[in-house]
Amino acid sequence: MKTSTAVLPPETKCTRCRGQATIPLPTHHANFCSECFLHFFRTAVSRAMERFGTDPETPLLVAVSGGKDSLALWDVLHTMGYTTTGIHVELGIDGFSEGSLDVVRRFARQRELPLIERSLKEAFGYSIQEIRVRTWRKICSVCGLLKRQMLNRLTVQNGFRVLVSGHNLDDEAGRLLGNILRNRTRYLEKLSPHLPSPHPRMPAKQKPLYRLESHEIRTYCRLRAIQPLEAKCPLSRGATSHTFKEALDFLEAKMPGTKRDFLFSHLDRSRDAIYSAPDTTCNRCGEPSFAEICSVCNLSEQLKAKDESAASAERNGSRKERRETTSEKTP
Ligand code: SF4
Ligand SMILES: [Zn+2]
Ligand SMILES: [Zn+2]
Repeated sequence: MKTSTAVLPPETKCTRCRGQATIPLPTHHANFCSECFLHFFRTAVSRAMERFGTDPETPLLVAVSGGKDSLALWDVLHTMGYTTTGIHVELGIDGFSEGSLDVVRRFARQRELPLIERSLKEAFGYSIQEIRVRTWRKICSVCGLLKRQMLNRLTVQNGFRVLVSGHNLDDEAGRLLGNILRNRTRYLEKLSPHLPSPHPRMPAKQKPLYRLESHEIRTYCRLRAIQPLEAKCPLSRGATSHTFKEALDFLEAKMPGTKRDFLFSHLDRSRDAIYSAPDTTCNRCGEPSFAEICSVCNLSEQLKAKDESAASAERNGSRKERRETTSEKTP
């Protein structure tokens, strides 16, 4: 696959300034020098923000994991003059979460940007690692659910109305392909880079990098000396989202522009995303919900029930053991 890491002959001219080009972008039929690439990148983000109707005065809360996408997003919004605060949810994944937090803290410190840190274990009672051994459900979907709810809640609690995340074109096209293949029409309607707030306690959600491909974001990080966390989450192995992205990469290598056309033609057909407002509030936590008990409280009850039954089995086991020991001692 041709990416921006391919080497261009030294005589190649930059499409914008006619200086020496070093970055090929075959999808755009363009080659750029570093300066013009950064201009191209910021233009893609500013087009997205215009489409969302977000002006630079709107304070933005940026969900940052420590990966290349979220750090590139935070950096580009900050350099474009947006007022940004980062938020990092520490998930408690052994050998991964500590590194993510370090990277995010270093990034914020170097740029003197405000950062909110929260831990899933403190907020929910269990870390992802602890949930994983207590549930049969796919851990990535549980993790996604908890992150979504925590970020929604924290955005509103901290006085923000807009939460932005680093989802890129490859993520969105991969999700679209997965939903089409599985005929998940309900999710197709929600696939939009901008979901307006449907409820006073739910923020608007925006994905300003949706026009940019993964390799373009990698190039941006290199040019801006951003050092993201390189390690992948150890629990991501086998996630089907990777397979859909790989299928699109295969098509893109044969026909540059396929991924972009696929996503944008869908977005053009469905300009108004459906992000329906929950019609009730959860009996347990009081958050907006579609049912009497929201899915997060449901999960919490399942985990607690599992712990209680394990504890009671252990109590019964030790009582039995004690009885056996006593009867062995009795002459
Ligand atoms: S790969 Fe899965 S478990 Fe790991 S952080 Fe992402 S969603 Fe969570
Ligand atoms: Zn140039
Ligand atoms: Zn609830």
